[in-house]
Amino acid sequence: MTPLTGKYFLPEWRCPVVRGRYCSLPSRRTGSPVFLSSLSPHRPLRYAVLGAGFAGLSVVWHLLKHSPKELNLCIDIYDEVGVGGGASGVSGGLLHPYSPKVKLLWQGAECWKESLKLLSIAEVALASEESNSEIGESGERFGQFVVRRRGILRPATNVKSLDALNENAQNCLSSCRIETIGKDAAQGLLPNICVPLNTAFYMPSAVNVNPQRYLRGLFLACKTLVKEFSTIGFGGKEFYLHQKSVSNLLELEGEYDVVIICMGAKADILPELSGKLPLRTCRGVIAHLQLPNNIEEDYPDHGPSILSDAWLSVQGNRSLLMGSTWEWKSRNSSPNVLADEATKALKELLPKASAVYPGIKDWSFTGARAGLRAMPPLTPNGSIPLLGCVNDLVGKTHTCKYWLFGGLGSRGLLYHAWLGKLLAQAVLSRNERIIPSELTSWKNIKQ
Ligand SMILES: Cc1cc2nc3c(=O)[nH]c(=O)nc-3n(C[C@H](O)[C@H](O)[C@H](O)COP(=O)(O)OP(=O)(O)OC[C@H]3O[C@@H](n4cnc5c(N)ncnc54)[C@H](O)[C@@H]3O)c2cc1C
Repeated sequence: MTPLTGKYFLPEWRCPVVRGRYCSLPSRRTGSPVFLSSLSPHRPLRYAVLGAGFAGLSVVWHLLKHSPKELNLCIDIYDEVGVGGGASGVSGGLLHPYSPKVKLLWQGAECWKESLKLLSIAEVALASEESNSEIGESGERFGQFVVRRRGILRPATNVKSLDALNENAQNCLSSCRIETIGKDAAQGLLPNICVPLNTAFYMPSAVNVNPQRYLRGLFLACKTLVKEFSTIGFGGKEFYLHQKSVSNLLELEGEYDVVIICMGAKADILPELSGKLPLRTCRGVIAHLQLPNNIEEDYPDHGPSILSDAWLSVQGNRSLLMGSTWEWKSRNSSPNVLADEATKALKELLPKASAVYPGIKDWSFTGARAGLRAMPPLTPNGSIPLLGCVNDLVGKTHTCKYWLFGGLGSRGLLYHAWLGKLLAQAVLSRNERIIPSELTSWKNIKQ
């Protein structure tokens, strides 16, 4: 997709918010407007966040939430496409704190708790906006739910991994239980599910998220926070979204006190970071399926989503997402999927999905979307994201502090909230050491 730089072709909510005191003179370096307040002796701190996906919006929300009320803080978010323009906007939206073998992930409890909190915040912001909207069209345009709370079912399909699955399930969180159930109980949840080994793992509290609606809600929640500060007499918080591609960090130098890089799989296109991040890229295609009119039986209202070698993320009684492919080393970040790529993806995903949900053969293909994952290296704690100050990598001496929030891999929804909070707190306190060393130790790896 050609980046839509400079112009706002996107809906109103993707445009700048809280129109501030713009000076008509553009900045020398970026051509973007300069704030009058930044020329005053009491100029606000100016932060730039690059990327408006799960990582970027989480960190913005936490910066606004955790900064002292009296701090004058102006945050500019830059995104070349707009909110949700990268992997976040196309993701399958499945959220739970476990690996495919239902093993609790590193810091799963904290990540799970913070993600649920942020989901609720976004839901409230969106509900409030929609109840105030006279047009009421956003629900139709983006689908009905932000969070679908119907659980996730993981049938066991492989004898070899059955023992590991059983053992892992014993060590589940009380806040996200795993019930080990047999075929009859599984079919009680979803009549047509196939349970080849008579064992399935049911996570009743796991959810699936509509990523576009969620990001919109989170964006609105940031906007609401700024308004709330202003209402109680602390009008020094500002927050703007710029639809603009950033091609290097040098162009921001001198304008910002802090720059936070949340560009997902494209972080290493920045010349200052190129070849220095231990990230691998992996493209994934998701097929969108619908039940045709001649099939009467709906997907049950309370039916869970399904995890297996392919997953099914339920969007409604008659629509679901089926994912995902793994094309390692791809650099293609376009969400658009051409006919050949879609055919290949269907050929790969359909047999995997029908092994657990044979009814999938009745569903019709309506389109496909894709995204590029930024996969972090495997560590003794699993594949965990990359966080921290990157001034040493950027090189030279800078007046600005550069931070990275990347490598969310295939579990961005689980990691974005807690890590966004940690990073915001580190940035505000200028203390990287409050970030657990597991998340910053990637900087010791020699590239
Ligand atoms: C097919 C697929 C399915 C997935 N399913 C799930 C799932 O079910 N559950 C789950 O938890 N995770 C899932 N993921 C993973 C999840 O989507 C990612 O972990 C997450 O989106 C990463 O978020 P991010 O904010 O780091 O990156 P992104 O969402 O990619 O955001 C980066 C942003 O930076 C912007 N940008 C890039 N370059 C520039 C530039 N030069 N200038 C300005 N802006 C720029 C982009 O437009 C983009 O909006 C899936 C991923 C894929 C690909």
